[in-house]
Amino acid sequence: MFRIGSHVSTAGGVEKAVDRQVEIKGNCGQLFVGSPRGWKVGEVKKEGADLFKKYCSEKDVGPWIVHGTYLINLATPKEELAEKSVATVQGELDASAELDIPYYTFHPGAHTGEGVEKGLKNIAMRLSQLEIPSSVTLLLENTAGKGTTLGETFSELQTMVEESTYGYDDIGVCLDTCHLFSAGYGFGTDEEISQMIDEIEGTIGIENVRYLHLNDSKHPFGSKKDEHEHIGDGEIGEGPFRTLINHKLFRDLPMVLETPIDEEKDHSWDIQKIRELRDDS
Ligand SMILES: [Zn+2]
Ligand SMILES: [Zn+2]
Repeated sequence: MFRIGSHVSTAGGVEKAVDRQVEIKGNCGQLFVGSPRGWKVGEVKKEGADLFKKYCSEKDVGPWIVHGTYLINLATPKEELAEKSVATVQGELDASAELDIPYYTFHPGAHTGEGVEKGLKNIAMRLSQLEIPSSVTLLLENTAGKGTTLGETFSELQTMVEESTYGYDDIGVCLDTCHLFSAGYGFGTDEEISQMIDEIEGTIGIENVRYLHLNDSKHPFGSKKDEHEHIGDGEIGEGPFRTLINHKLFRDLPMVLETPIDEEKDHSWDIQKIRELRDDS
């Protein structure tokens, strides 16, 4: 079954996320386990976790993915920031496990002047310090490549995994369409998408792409800017989404939206739009 949902709030308790998802006609989804702009990992209370799992199974919503806080930087040369980042990633991984959520994703980080090679080494080293729970796959998210941010190319993502002590059983990739487009990967035509798949196959391997973030982009192709737009309303447009979400190598992946919520359109509008673009719904 096609799995499409959106990022939803956990305000009032994590179990509330399930109904919020059902209300907007999503059947999988993403959430934060703490504040997206803070270091504190929210404590998962047993009662809330039990209800969350119960509702997910009753309403057939999943697989979920947890998104890490935006402060995490595993590439940093600053030891204190690195330590905080590792501790937070660990806390969020553990919270994912307690919620029976199989995926956890975050933006790997920025080298802030140390250079790409050193930054990638730092990420690999700090990934190696984690204890990834066996029930959770850590997914590195591709980035738009703004500033000294790492992870905009498949080859950088490959280096992060392969220079760590982990392998692709524990670490995979979450692809964000806005970030792909801003980083200069096109997926609108068969030729563009084959070219991108060839590059994936030559690096991380297509089977290690485990989840998709569907977002249109406010900024042009290759702009390296990361600002999301409603599906079809941005610079990507409807066509490339139709190509990507129906492609045989991507169509069975769970997909979530991180599109804006404004007066005219909320996540239910974007979920509906994606369903319209699917061949089978
Ligand atoms: Zn993200
Ligand atoms: Zn983004």
